[in-house]
Amino acid sequence: MAKRDYYEVLGVNKTATADEIKKAYRALALKFHPDKNPDNKEAEEKFKEASEAYEVLSDEDKRRTYDQFGHDGLRSQFGNSGFSWDNFTRFDDISDLFGGGFSSIFDMLFGGGFGGGGGRQRQPNRGEDLQIALSLTLKEIALGTEKKLKVNTKVACDKCSGSGSEDNQVENCSQCNGTGQVRVVRPSLFGQMQSISVCPSCSGEGKIIKNKCKKCGGEGRQNKVKEITVKIPAGVEEGQYIRLRGQGNIGLRGGAAGDILVLIQEKEDDTFIRDGDNILLEYPITISQAVLGDEISVPTITGKAKMKVPAGTQSSRIFRMKGLGIQGLHSHMRGDLLVRVTVVTPTRISKEETELYQKLREFDVKRNMKPGRSFLHKLRDIFN
Ligand SMILES: [Zn+2]
Ligand SMILES: [Zn+2]
Repeated sequence: MAKRDYYEVLGVNKTATADEIKKAYRALALKFHPDKNPDNKEAEEKFKEASEAYEVLSDEDKRRTYDQFGHDGLRSQFGNSGFSWDNFTRFDDISDLFGGGFSSIFDMLFGGGFGGGGGRQRQPNRGEDLQIALSLTLKEIALGTEKKLKVNTKVACDKCSGSGSEDNQVENCSQCNGTGQVRVVRPSLFGQMQSISVCPSCSGEGKIIKNKCKKCGGEGRQNKVKEITVKIPAGVEEGQYIRLRGQGNIGLRGGAAGDILVLIQEKEDDTFIRDGDNILLEYPITISQAVLGDEISVPTITGKAKMKVPAGTQSSRIFRMKGLGIQGLHSHMRGDLLVRVTVVTPTRISKEETELYQKLREFDVKRNMKPGRSFLHKLRDIFN
């Protein structure tokens, strides 16, 4: 779904003053506040959407950036996953709307109590993604392949089973009661202002390990060279990657594992050139083959194929051999092998050959060879 315009969300026009924007937001916040719309997912979304719009339009710098570049301009502000409540700094502006019941907003927003909860929980300690490059031959790309790769990863510590604890004694953090977040209360113009930050005692994990595992130093993970099997579909291209979910580093102390990204690289081929799903091949023929015609054997990605060169074939003519190219990644069709024949002029010839060519020359004058552009057109087509 396309993101709505912030001015439209708040129902103000582009020249609205700071006061008008604030008024509009307060009205929406009052209307969609979750306390007034319990278990209403849509109201929750509206409340969040309005808050995002207000966060931007109430800030001169952000508003200017948005006016100039739209939503794209704010990507660096809100991160990849977009606006979240962590980005909201304007609670002051609505704190008086709810008659001191301000903490309930936070319970709803951070406590996971909304709609059964769980859905909005972050993934603490998720492990790192790992990137590995994989070089493939043209044949492997054309047909698809399966590769075994060795990857240095971090897996759960076998001594503490990933808990990071020597004796499996893990206590809830007393400072945050296991939530990983602490509220900081400070006075503001509108009364008490609360904000949420990561608990400094447990770094947001909610747990404290009494005795750290001696093997992993409390990290809960250890190095291991893992052998993984990757299936590479046919038709992949340089720069694409295959994501192996959950195969990357495991997170600290039982955190979820990251992914492995297998980055595709193409090895240059000695014989063929890839052109999308087609394969290009240049094949030399002799003058007599061009004049008299022949059946030749050309290399293909899997072996050889017979190809007929008709009598009177011009140099640079391209022959299309259907279905001998690369299996398309999305099309499920195989591309073609395009063979361009070039007539090779011999540079060293015997006395006997010389005599024969001299004889042939007597026929040359009788032929009508016109200079002109038709050949250049052909040439242009070949290179385009
Ligand atoms: Zn350990
Ligand atoms: Zn804590």
